[in-house]
This record gives sequence, structure tokens and C-alpha cells, in this order.
Amino acid sequence: MSAYLEGEHEDGARGERHRRPQSGTAGEEHGVDAVGEALRRPAGRPILLRAGAVITLDPALGNLVGNILIDGEKIIAVGPGLKDRAGENAIVVDAQEAIAIPGLVDSHLHAWVGQLRGLSSDLDISAYMDLVHRRFAPRYRPDDMYVGCLLSSLVALDGGVTTILDNSHNARALEHMTAAVEGLAEAGIRAVHASGPPVDGSVSMADWSRNLEGIRERYFSSEDQLLTLRVMDVAGSEDLWRHARDQDLWVSTEMGSHITNLGDLARVGLLTEKHAFNHCITLPDDDWRRIADAGAAVNLCARSDAHFGLGQAVPPVDQALSMGLVPGLSTDNETVYLSDMLTEMQHLVTLHRGYAFARLAAGEKAAQLTAEQVLRFATVGGAANCGLADRVGSLTPGKQADVVLLRRSDLNTALSTNAFTTLLGFSNRSNVDSVFVAGRVRKWRGRLVDHDVSRVLAAAEASRSRLMNEVGLRADGFHDGVLPDR
Ligand SMILES: [Zn+2]
Repeated sequence: MSAYLEGEHEDGARGERHRRPQSGTAGEEHGVDAVGEALRRPAGRPILLRAGAVITLDPALGNLVGNILIDGEKIIAVGPGLKDRAGENAIVVDAQEAIAIPGLVDSHLHAWVGQLRGLSSDLDISAYMDLVHRRFAPRYRPDDMYVGCLLSSLVALDGGVTTILDNSHNARALEHMTAAVEGLAEAGIRAVHASGPPVDGSVSMADWSRNLEGIRERYFSSEDQLLTLRVMDVAGSEDLWRHARDQDLWVSTEMGSHITNLGDLARVGLLTEKHAFNHCITLPDDDWRRIADAGAAVNLCARSDAHFGLGQAVPPVDQALSMGLVPGLSTDNETVYLSDMLTEMQHLVTLHRGYAFARLAAGEKAAQLTAEQVLRFATVGGAANCGLADRVGSLTPGKQADVVLLRRSDLNTALSTNAFTTLLGFSNRSNVDSVFVAGRVRKWRGRLVDHDVSRVLAAAEASRSRLMNEVGLRADGFHDGVLPDR
């Protein structure tokens, strides 16, 4: 699959430079110590994570000082002790200086635009639509899809995100769709691939659905894997929703006041619990009720809404909560800011506190969000958006071992007495020490494992340069080349 990266061997040696080092010496070259090396090849050994503080988000377990026992893909136990249960053969990870949390879930990310990072800080929604969907998207080749998805997935893993809901609305051909899935698979992240026809309307429903069947057969025949498939929609399309229902697939939809037919879709039985709605800006109360009654999921985009000029300045978190929903959080895309869920959570807390205090000052009723609530959005809520609530989102025995260790001994995280305050007020991705997806180590002691990051960046840079050339844009390092001079 790494044949998408330039310079890859076409013969049997394909991917050789990506393969794991075969000896301890090679491992050391990659900066992986003995424990890291054992974690990369556990050979059936259980893993005992000895964390200082464990935030499980499991209502029965709560927060505790203790350990996490992992066997294969799954969490076996969480609690104090566990050494005897782990046995002498276990790989012991000493992480007493860390906070363990469930892997974060980004509920709505367009991974294919990874290499269009930082096009301009000044994009609003119309400039974004014009640039990304009308100018760049038609020029994407399969290898651009691949490298965008791989880059976005690695950025996510590096920041403690173990699951992304990839909203892939540039499914131009079977080759593009294949490449997108291969990029996600290569990263080793847990991902929901939500495939949608390109926004410019250049691909027919018939062609897209035939190609969807093609990737479904090839990549999604098993339920027992990191990747799952669904449909993506931007407009409340009855055709897409019907196709998804007939194929027993979930739908992720860019939701807002531009979709006025939710009542019609509900009336014909197309609004079910197998839906996740992004943004949910300026929705009428009736639509909130329809979504909640259907048992569907919603995710909120605090930074995206504000940056691109969608809806109000504060995402509809209070509306979601009033309907009894636990929303997910999402970063949307990287054209303006880094896809980073720690930042997303921190931004929402600050924004919502200001909003709530302003309402209180005006004599209205308002409740503040707690840090625990916001972390729950980014984990439990995200898992619900992904249709994976029974597999991920909390550190619960029996669930998949998607775990993040975050150091609380660094200059910027030390001395805090409350794990939630450390997370939501002081942490950034440099404190993300280790990341496990389904029990496999993906980041260890601050570095991604088994990926040649400089090679991925070189491929992303080449892709971006070609695309920018083709649309007639130039970035000189200061002026972004995208919007007219100010
Ligand atoms: Zn979006």
C-alpha cells in the first residue's frame, strides 16, 4: 500500500523501507527502548500499564489511581494491583507520571485534505468551498488521496486521537476511494471511512455507489478490524440516505440550516439511529427533537464554526445537552488550524465559559461545562458518532485497548493536583507520551512508532506543490498565495 509514496519499489521489496526493524539494534536507531521494542512485538504477552491517574469514563469504575491490563486487542481489567493477574510474562509499562485516558475520537475530519494544511488563516466558508471543492478537489489523483489520509491519520495519532471519523467527500473514482482507505490502513489508526460523492456534482450516484460496493467487498468484509465503512452526505440527499439504509450503512451528514428537509426524510423512515450529524448549527427545535427521537448522534465543531463563519460563535452544546445527547467533538479540516482534539476541547471550555458568564450577567440561567463533561464528549460522544460505543470511548474491561498516556511531569503539566485541570488547561500534544490502538503501540515515549514521518511529509509536500501549481497558486513562506493581498 505504501507504493503510493514516490520512490517505492514496485517489486517484492515494496514497502521494505517502511518495515519494522528486524533487530534490537535497528530498533534503537528508531529511538525505541527495550520496553517499546517489546510492545511493538508483544508475541502474545499481556501489557500492564501502571499509570498514576486513570480517567476511565466508565460510570462503574470512575477515576482511580491504578493500572490497566491489556491482553491482545482488549482491556482485561482496570484497577489497583493486577500484577498477579498480569503474570510474570507481562510487559510492564511504568507510567506513574502519566494520566491514562481513553483514546480521543475526532468525530468529523476530512482526512483527504491533509496536505492542504494552512492554506490561509483568512478562509471563510465560501472561500473554502471555492478553493477546496471547486479548484483542488477535481485535480486530486489517487496518490493525493492516499497521502492526505495518511498524513491526517498520523497527525491524529500523534495528538492522542485513536479514532477518526473520516468524512471523505472526494470519491471521484474507485482508485481514489481505494487510495483513501489504504492511507488510513497504513497509519494503523482506527477509522470510520465515510464515503461521499464529490461536492462539485461531477460523479453520478450510480458510479459512486458501484465504487462503494467495490471498496466494501475489498476492505470491509470483516467487522473485526480497525476500519469501518459508511456514507457521507452534505445536503440531506434522499438518494444517499436511502442507499445507505438499503445497504445497512450509517450516514454522516454536514448538518445545518441549509438542510430543510429533515422532517421529510424522517417521515419516509430514513432518519434512524444510524446517523451522525456534524456541526448542527442553527437547527430549529423540531430538528433537534427529530434527531434525539431517532437516537442519532451529533458532533460539534467549536473552532470550525467560528473560523468559517457557520452559525453562532458558540456551537449548540446546550441544545444537544437539553435533548439528552452526549455530543462528539470534531476538528473538521486542516486548511486553517491544526486538527488537534486537546485544543478543540480547550477551546470549547473557554468559549462556553465566556458564553455562560455573559448569560448569567444578563440575568439568564446558564450552566458551565465541566472538564469531565468535555472529555466525555471527545471520547464517549465520539464513539457514539462512530457507531462504536460498545467498542471504544471508555477504559472498560472488554472494550478495545485504545489508550493514551499523557505526561504530567513536564514543565507545562507538573504540579497540577487535578488530572482534568491538567488535561483541559495545561496539556498539548507534546505531552502525549504513548498511544495504543487495539493494544498495539502507535506512539511511544513521544514518537510515532513504525512510520517514517519525514518520508510522509516529503510525499505530502510533493502532492501539495503539484496541486497548488495546477490551480495557479504559490506559497512563498509568508504570503499564503490564496487570498488577494490585503
Ligand atoms: Zn466538514
